[in-house]
Amino acid sequence: NEGLSGEVKPRVLLMGLRRSGKSSIQKVVFHKMSPNETLFLESTNKICREDVSSSSFVSFQIWDFPGQIDFFDPTFDYEMIFRGTGALIFVIDSQDDYVEALSRLHLTVTRAYKVNPDIHFEVFIHKVDGLSDDHKIEKQGDIRRRASDDLADARLERIHLSFYLTSIYDHSIFEAFSKVVQKLIPQLPTLENLLNIFISNSGIEKAFLFDVVSKIYIATDSSPVDMQTYELCCDMIDVVIDISCIYGLAEEDPAVGSPYDKDSMAIIRLNNTTVVYLKEVTKFLAMVCFLREESFERKVFPSSQNPART
Ligand code: GDP
Repeated sequence: NEGLSGEVKPRVLLMGLRRSGKSSIQKVVFHKMSPNETLFLESTNKICREDVSSSSFVSFQIWDFPGQIDFFDPTFDYEMIFRGTGALIFVIDSQDDYVEALSRLHLTVTRAYKVNPDIHFEVFIHKVDGLSDDHKIEKQGDIRRRASDDLADARLERIHLSFYLTSIYDHSIFEAFSKVVQKLIPQLPTLENLLNIFISNSGIEKAFLFDVVSKIYIATDSSPVDMQTYELCCDMIDVVIDISCIYGLAEEDPAVGSPYDKDSMAIIRLNNTTVVYLKEVTKFLAMVCFLREESFERKVFPSSQNPART
C-alpha cells in the first residue's frame, strides 16, 4: 500500500549538542555505516542540516547546536519546522558532563511545546556502551529527575518526556528509533490488529513490519518482542538487501530499476527448526515472519511426503 507510506511519513527532528552523536546515529540507522567508521565523521558547523530520506518510510532532519546558535536568529524559521514535526529526539552524551545539554534540552522543549504541543519529546541518553547496567539506570534516573525538575520549576509539568538508553554499537538505537516512529503512525492499532489476525490464521509465530532501509520496525503483533528476534530480523534484512544489491540489478544496465521491489522475498531455515520468512510489501516496507519448520512445510508444501504433525 503505497498510500500508507505516502500519507503518514513520520517527521522526526534530531537535536542535541555538538559531538553528542547525531550524525553517527543518522549514518548508522539510515546509511548502514558501521559504528566504528563514525569515529572519522567530520563535525560540521551548520545550524540546520537537512536530510529527508527519499528511500525510507521515515522523513528526517538533523539540527546541531554549535555553540550559541539561537532561536532568536531571524533567518531561522524554527516555528515552521516545529509545526511540521512529529517527534523531537534530543541526544545527550552520557559519557560527557550533561549540565549544558540539560539546559539546551529545557530551552528546546519549552520553545517547541509553545509552537506545537503535540510534538513527542524523546530523550536519547546516548553512548551508554561504556557503562555497566547499574550505571546506566543511575544515569537515566539522574537525567530524568533533573529534566523534570527544570520543567516543574517552569510550571510546565504537563510536558511529557520519554527516555531511552542508546548506543550505536548495539541494536538499542534501532529499538529506540522504532518506538519513536511507532508513536507517529496513526494506523498502528489497525496494523497490529491485522498482524494478530494474520499470525493466528497462518501458523506464523511472530510477524514484524520493517522499514527496510533503516531497520526500524513499524509494527508487530501483540506477542512480546525479544531483542534476539529483533536482531535476527535485522540480520536477515541485511543479508537480503546485500544479496539483492550484488545480484539483483539488471545486467544490461545496472542503473535501471531497483535491486529489490515489492515482489522480492527470501526464506532462511535455521538449524533450530525455525524458519525466517521475508517478503517485501512496498518499496519501503518488508514483512519478516518467524515460524516453525513443521508449520512452514504444512502451509507451503501441503502435499509433502512428510505429513505434518499437529
Ligand atoms: P554530532 O556532532 O552530534 O553529529 O556527533 P557525531 O556523530 O560527530 O559523534 C561524535 C563522536 O561520538 C564520534 O566520534 C562518534 O564515533 C561518537 N559516538 C557516536 N555515537 C556513539 C555511541 O553510541 N557510543 C560511543 N562510544 N561513541 C559514539
